[in-house]
Amino acid sequence: MTTLLPTTTAGSLPKPVWLAEPGTLWSPWKLAGHDLDAGKRDALRLAVDDQRQAGITILGDGEQTRQHFVTTFVEHLAGVDFEQRRTVRIRDRYDASVPSVVGAVSRPAPVFVDDARYLRAQTDQPIKWTLPGPMTMIDTLYDAHYRSRERLAWEFACILNEEARELEAAGVDIIQFDEPAFNVFFDEANDWGIATLERAAKGLKAQTAVHICYGYGIKANTEWKKTLGAEWRQYEQTFPNLQRSTIDIISLECRNSRVPMDLIELVRGKTVMVGAIDVATDTVETPDEVAETLRAALRFVDADKLMPATNCGMAPLSRDVALGKLRALGAGAAIVRRELGA
Ligand SMILES: [Zn+2]
Repeated sequence: MTTLLPTTTAGSLPKPVWLAEPGTLWSPWKLAGHDLDAGKRDALRLAVDDQRQAGITILGDGEQTRQHFVTTFVEHLAGVDFEQRRTVRIRDRYDASVPSVVGAVSRPAPVFVDDARYLRAQTDQPIKWTLPGPMTMIDTLYDAHYRSRERLAWEFACILNEEARELEAAGVDIIQFDEPAFNVFFDEANDWGIATLERAAKGLKAQTAVHICYGYGIKANTEWKKTLGAEWRQYEQTFPNLQRSTIDIISLECRNSRVPMDLIELVRGKTVMVGAIDVATDTVETPDEVAETLRAALRFVDADKLMPATNCGMAPLSRDVALGKLRALGAGAAIVRRELGA
């Protein structure tokens, strides 16, 4: 990638109102059958266009073809029963009705590879594809088969690797694994979570990223954040081991977050996706505010390793707000690029 400060999003963007109910997670589709398939593709093209017009460098699909960043991937796997639902506590934070693992898990067919090929056909710019990470996957399921979080995570890591290799072959430049669970289960992350992540990324020639955040701007998350104190030092627990890992890019949130910026030092040498857009508020950042966050990050990361991004996905926001934030991200990065003489 030749552009200095290449911008990108953490992943999701709001869907058009004709495709899914706005402002909510796990939003039901408004179309069905062939219309739904066609609608998802149209939405993907709009998401690409929004990013392109905002001057975003590395484009994603805005996760327009999936209902949820974890569930949709899991739906395509064998060994998981969506009828047998159990209520579990997600990331120790909120209860959700989730499917059960009832047998050996496997991936009978590619999940997102056709969508990725479609995204590839829309643009010559670099593209990034997001997948859930192994630990976040097991945290969104009830396991009635393996009865071991670690064993199930290793199984998912192998499945994710199969998918990731095919995404790479479809022309994806960066494969990102979402692991918000790393900000909650530190001991497990260090014992086997990072190892299973590396297994998921094994042998890839595409760049690999891990996105670790404090979640979407939903109530359960904002309430949880209130309990975290004046300084959020969660990243301190996993960054040293991530710095030594094979993962190329670390995505973290910075804007309006109480994360001390100097924690970025802990992943020195890695490319850092700096969250310069708060996804938990409808207030649209100004380009100057984005630039301010990026300048602050540049004290701890070399300019050629800084990738301006959003704190997390923007799925629950309105499209107007999300578009405004995308534009601010593009314009804010351009300001700092000019300052750097690029
Ligand atoms: Zn996130």
